[in-house]
Amino acid sequence: MTGIEGVLTVDLGAVAANWSQLAAAAPGDVGAAVKADGYGLGAAPVARALLAAGCRHFFVAHLAEGLAVREAIGPGPMVAVLNGFPPGAEGGEGLMPVLNGLADAAAWTAAARQAGRALPAILHVDTGMARLGLDAGEVERVAADHGLLAGLDLRYVMTHLACADAPEHPLNAEQARRFRAACVRLPPAPRSFANSAGLFLGPEFGSDLGRPGCALYGINPTPGRANPMRQVVRLEAPILQVREIPAGASVGYGASWTALRPSRIATVAAGYADGYLRALSGRAAGILAGRPVPLVGRVSMDLITFDVTDMPLPSPGDRIGLIGPGQTPDDLAFAAGTIGYEILTSLGARYRRDHIGA
Ligand SMILES: *Cc1c(COP(=O)(O)O)cnc(C)c1O
Repeated sequence: MTGIEGVLTVDLGAVAANWSQLAAAAPGDVGAAVKADGYGLGAAPVARALLAAGCRHFFVAHLAEGLAVREAIGPGPMVAVLNGFPPGAEGGEGLMPVLNGLADAAAWTAAARQAGRALPAILHVDTGMARLGLDAGEVERVAADHGLLAGLDLRYVMTHLACADAPEHPLNAEQARRFRAACVRLPPAPRSFANSAGLFLGPEFGSDLGRPGCALYGINPTPGRANPMRQVVRLEAPILQVREIPAGASVGYGASWTALRPSRIATVAAGYADGYLRALSGRAAGILAGRPVPLVGRVSMDLITFDVTDMPLPSPGDRIGLIGPGQTPDDLAFAAGTIGYEILTSLGARYRRDHIGA
């Protein structure tokens, strides 16, 4: 029997292959950003697949995400928390905080004193994002007094690129320059620099540890050029009904689409509550029997509608492809005026999730 839920298929073999491809090409080690539940695809299965492929450095945003990844992969590999530890979370169960300013560093040196041993950490230097990380003044204070990092086992100094997806942007080279300059002012430590797109920018963006995220999940890290990564996600949602409407009838909220001819409409069980963004209204297609069918009318919370007039009569229960090789997360993002990351991290909780290829 066909379920009436959508099916989200995550190809873990493709995730692993994408990681291996990046790891083979990068000059240093390559880790993986698995924050936000592995970009919406399931942090635990994704992290286990990456571990099996050889990945030993994992990045999450929140402490709770880190604990979940640690639970999934067991002890050993590095799990670093980009947003740092909340106050009082010292201990962190084998996780490592990213220190995003001197206040973080002070708290972590105090924790090390209390623990009576060196505590591992990653020091984040801001070179052009102005979100998190030591600013230039803080770098100078550390340069003048390495004691500000006393008791820390500095595993990496990292920075983060603002414009890696725009290779010609002058800020890229400027950030590389600022990062090199900051690193010579700080206690010696391995460096962690490039995200996915940064790994494609050239040798001065190489480092001891790359931190790709989106490329692992099939997002194009080289916008404007052919996508070198394998697609990971397939999303299909079932047709609940097929109905015939006369010319002049409108479909959906706001009556935003009107049939110009007698038409056949397939109503499908997915909507903006499932991450099928409302901004896609009138701007995307479904794939039915290998052919595109236009999305018509507004995307509603739980339903979307496709014009299948020119198709052989589908049956309720047949699935329409929403994401796949013919319509990638990047394609949907372009249609919706956003980025593939937002498409992936918006994928809802109401799909059946099949992880394959592990
Ligand atoms: C999310 C994130 C990454 C991964 O970025 P992608 O563009 O997805 O490759 C790397 N570093 C930091 C600090 C991040 O926040």
